[in-house]
Amino acid sequence: MPRYLITGGAGFIGANLAHTLVDRGETVRILDDFSTGRPENLRGIEERIEILRGDIRDPAIMSRAVNGVEVILHQAALNSNPRSIQEPVQTNDVNVGGTLTLLQAARAAGTRRVVYASSSSVYGEVAGLPKTEDMPTAPKAPYGVSKLAAEQYCRVFTQVYGIETVSLRYFNVYGPRQHPDSEYAAVIPRFLRRMLAGKRPVIFGDGEQSRDFTPVDNVVAANLLAAHSREGIGEVMNIAGGTSSTLNQLVAWLNEVLGTDLTPLYEPPRPADIRHSYASIRKAEALLGYRPQLGVQEGLRRTVEWFR
Ligand code: NAD
Repeated sequence: MPRYLITGGAGFIGANLAHTLVDRGETVRILDDFSTGRPENLRGIEERIEILRGDIRDPAIMSRAVNGVEVILHQAALNSNPRSIQEPVQTNDVNVGGTLTLLQAARAAGTRRVVYASSSSVYGEVAGLPKTEDMPTAPKAPYGVSKLAAEQYCRVFTQVYGIETVSLRYFNVYGPRQHPDSEYAAVIPRFLRRMLAGKRPVIFGDGEQSRDFTPVDNVVAANLLAAHSREGIGEVMNIAGGTSSTLNQLVAWLNEVLGTDLTPLYEPPRPADIRHSYASIRKAEALLGYRPQLGVQEGLRRTVEWFR
């Protein structure tokens, strides 16, 4: 029996987790419906892992998926603010309903630990920077509401049923295997796709909005810590780089790495975008021993190499 189940294991973050675990000699099963995940993300390890194709909302497939595993790294979700504005019901079904189905299956199977991929979007535009976990939450789009609700389910399943859950609020993750193509793609792959083709990147707003861009290596490391730490059970914590960069700064760095001089095209801001996002990572440092291993610029260099 595999030791780890990764839901959403064919997606960007899930596949990076799968590659790292396999490299470390761990046994891995993934569950994915391949809606946004891609088989090529698993290239090179597909023979060494167990792949289940199915929907996290399906109790039967979920109970097969959790069978015998010790740790679940729960990444599967519909992952986009704009998409959730178009499809709030489906977003809720997958992100909340799917998580509840997973927790029920984990409970029935006696799974030791569930590490849940939450999101900085739960904070919304609450006042104060950096964001700390004791701040109020006020998501600006259905996506953030769904991530917050699932976080609460995790906490309650720890309190009521004793399943060890740890929720990690990721901040703007980027890196190899991130999808550049969909209309809901994240900012770094969107910029890179255009800039690598010699086109100017498109910024929604004036470009002075800031984000805490987090290389995926740091998120993978945080998951592995959260899978085995003695502390942090039933808790939520930020996982980020702990620095803030504007989108204009990001374009400047990408120009530097690419050797280009492309100025942004500015378009009107999008409705659910927040102005500034920047995390305190003290709680994850204290409870998990988390330290960002990679800075933004080194992360960008590796990402550009991969996209090339
Ligand atoms: P992704 O879209 O690349 O991965 C999600 C995976 O889940 C895909 O492989 C998809 O096919 C799968 N999936 C979706 N619905 C499913 C369903 N009903 N059943 C089974 N599989 C399903 O996204 P990602 O960026 O890798 O995000 C992973 C997790 O991290 C998500 O939970 C997301 O909310 C969270 N997160 C991501 C970021 C980020 O910046 N990328 C930030 C905060 C939180």
